[in-house]
Amino acid sequence: MAYNMKKTVLVSGGAGFIGSHVTVELAQAGYDVVIADNMSNCDETNYKGVCAILGKEMPFVKMDFCDTEAVDALFAKYRFDALIHFAAFKAVGESVDDPLKYYTNNLGSFLNILAAARKSGTHVLFSSSATVYGEPEKKPVTEQSPRQPATSPYGNTKQMCEDFLRDCVKAYGMHGIALRYFNPIGAHPSALIGELPRGIPNNLVPFITQTAIGKRECLRIFGNDYPTEDGTCLRDYIDIVDLARAHVCAVTRMVEDKMDEPYEIFNIGTGRPVSVLELVTAFEKVNNLKLNYVFAPRRAGDVMAIWADPGLAERKLGWKATRTVPETLAAAWAWEKHLQELGL
Ligand code: UDP
Repeated sequence: MAYNMKKTVLVSGGAGFIGSHVTVELAQAGYDVVIADNMSNCDETNYKGVCAILGKEMPFVKMDFCDTEAVDALFAKYRFDALIHFAAFKAVGESVDDPLKYYTNNLGSFLNILAAARKSGTHVLFSSSATVYGEPEKKPVTEQSPRQPATSPYGNTKQMCEDFLRDCVKAYGMHGIALRYFNPIGAHPSALIGELPRGIPNNLVPFITQTAIGKRECLRIFGNDYPTEDGTCLRDYIDIVDLARAHVCAVTRMVEDKMDEPYEIFNIGTGRPVSVLELVTAFEKVNNLKLNYVFAPRRAGDVMAIWADPGLAERKLGWKATRTVPETLAAAWAWEKHLQELGL
């Protein structure tokens, strides 16, 4: 791919799990990247890992995107061709307990970003989620599948931010892409960056790796009485590096003016449903260990089954998932062991 002139991309939330992997893939594809993060939900581990992988200090701005003056100052200092917005709170349960915290932060920061992008003519990539589909009737889900009413304020912020972007693109002649992620898992093959949940993990794979290493006693599999083959939920687990590559494709599509519509949406998944039990078994097999787990009641708010039709992303972005579930689970385990070496 030829990038004759280096383009600059802002990654808000670039010190987090997805943002750090995206930063690496963008930089390796030839983009200049500026990371901005308020470090409210992470430490410096991933930022340091990104710099180690890339072999250089990456530009980093510590700031909060709810702070309008800080956002203006950032856009006065840099000329961004595109931005990717990750900076948001992401705990579903917490959002139910404290909706104002989620609405204030996740909506306020994105509104500031949109205003700055409008003024500066920056293309916007928004990190959305398959949660917008709720419990889908037809599977796999395409981008045309109906959105369902959100079951949490967190899910609602994803839908609302999609709508903010759609409306701004329409009104102001901007360009935007929303990527709807399925279940991102794994870690960078270098084991230098990965997922670093604070406290007890909500997500399945960090819970698995923490149980395997002895930080948690036992994994609870939420529900084995679903009407699926083995009774556990079905998800589309997407490798984090594959997911990160999709962002490079989407940014390139925007900055090279290749979009068919000024606002586009793409599912980012593998297209393959995997059950919780299959994932646990695959983890045990590839890493040659036994995991302590029990079956527990269903978790409130969980959908039974969802997986992507990633065909549109393949046709339009030229992207598809390449890494296998065992490869991804081996990377997740290597990362957990790296964290243990770091004493984290
Ligand atoms: N899950 C589980 N035990 C856990 C965490 C998750 O059985 O400790 C299940 C959960 O019920 C769901 C799947 O793993 O079926 C993926 O959950 P996760 O929270 O990772 O992602 P979600 O699909 O809910 O966004």
